[in-house]
This record gives sequence, C-alpha cells and structure tokens, in this order.
Amino acid sequence: MNKFEQLGLKESLNRAIIDLGFENPTEVQEKAIPMLLEQDTDLVALAQTGTGKTAAFGFPLIHKIDADNRNTQALILSPTRELCLQITNEIKNYSKYEKGINVVAIYGGASITEQAREIKRGAQIIVATPGRMQDMINRGLVNITQIDYCVLDEADEMLNMGFYEDIVSILSDTPEEKSTWLFSATMPAEVARIAKKFMENPIEITVGTKNS
Ligand code: ADP
Ligand code: MG
Repeated sequence: MNKFEQLGLKESLNRAIIDLGFENPTEVQEKAIPMLLEQDTDLVALAQTGTGKTAAFGFPLIHKIDADNRNTQALILSPTRELCLQITNEIKNYSKYEKGINVVAIYGGASITEQAREIKRGAQIIVATPGRMQDMINRGLVNITQIDYCVLDEADEMLNMGFYEDIVSILSDTPEEKSTWLFSATMPAEVARIAKKFMENPIEITVGTKNS
C-alpha cells in the first residue's frame, strides 16, 4: 500500500500521487501534511532544496481549496519565474483529478495583460514572484483580500533578492485570519522578522538534508 494514503489526503489526490510515482512521503511531507490537514495553523518549515517542499504545501492546499468558489483562496510567493512555473506545473499535476481548480503563474518579463486576463477567468491559486505580484496589486488587477492560505516558498532566497518590502506590502493586503506557511533553507534575521510580523504561534519543523 502507498504510504501517502495514511496521511488523510482526499481520494483525488491519492490518485494523482500514484500517477506521480511517489511511494513514500519525504520527511518534510510526513511532518507537515497531517498537521496542515488537521488544523489551520501557521507553519515555519526549515528544509533544504530537494526535500519535497512543493508537495508538502501543495497537497494540503489542493485538499483544502474549495473548487466551487472562484475567489483566489491561496497565494504562493516564490523567488523566480522558473520556480513559479515549476510550482504551477506541479500543482496542476496534483489537482488533475480535482475538477475546477485553476492555478495561475504571475511573474515578470511576460505580458501583464495576459496574466490579468488569466486571473480574471478565476484563479483559486496564484503562484507569483513578489515584484510582479506587487505590480498587479498596485494596478488593481488582482484581489487577494479573501485568501485563506499564503505560502512563502524559499523565503530566504526571496529576501536575498531584495523582496522584503514587496513581501511586507503584499502580506499587508491579505486577511489577518489566513494561515501562512513559510518554507526556507535557512533562518536569517530578515526571515525571522517576516515570521514574527505576520505569523501567530507558528508550528516549527526542521528536517535534515536528503543525505544526512
Ligand atoms: P524542494 O522544493 O524542497 O526543493 P521539490 O518539491 O522540488 O523539492 O522536490 C524535489 C524532487 O523530488 C522533485 O523532482 C519531486 O518530484 C520529487 N519528490 C517530491 N516528493 C517526492 C516523494 N514523496 N517521492 C518521490 N519523489 C518526490
Ligand atoms: Mg522548492
């Protein structure tokens, strides 16, 4: 039996996981997924690259998103265009058996008009770089005032790239009651500052690297 089935994810996800060929959850998945399913909590997860973070937040998100509600319910912030596209692709794979979930990628260097059009068609999940996201908020092209979940992926990388102000401004546009899930390989002062400013008693998990 596939070990993922014991985590309590819905049937449509378990089917997608079989298609992905994942047999056992990675450490960060095993620690984060049951907790995120069980409660609407803030989370700080310290985990290196390659530890399976996308599914650690992606599976619970797909499990919890209401496909019948067209509002944007989740925002995933990620440092680069490449990572945004990668995460978007992954999330589409995860939700392939779940009808009506739309995922839209928002990043710089591409047509903002086209991205705004996609958002308008309904995007329950937005995967964005902070710069373009802030730009779209400023122009009134996107509404994140009703999101339930915000994921900060590779938080240390985003802050290294100078996105502190954008992240603070974007998060200030979201409801206070949402859950924030922060993933980072390291915990420099700026990441801790974001966590302190926007999170309430986050559950903290740390995982070793794949080889340790
Ligand atoms: P991270 O975001 O932590 O760098 P990713 O989410 O990109 O890691 O995952 C790294 C690789 O591991 C990807 O190719 C992904 O498909 C694969 N992967 C993730 N979880 C599992 C799993 N439970 N079993 C097998 N492969 C997995
Ligand atoms: Mg990743």
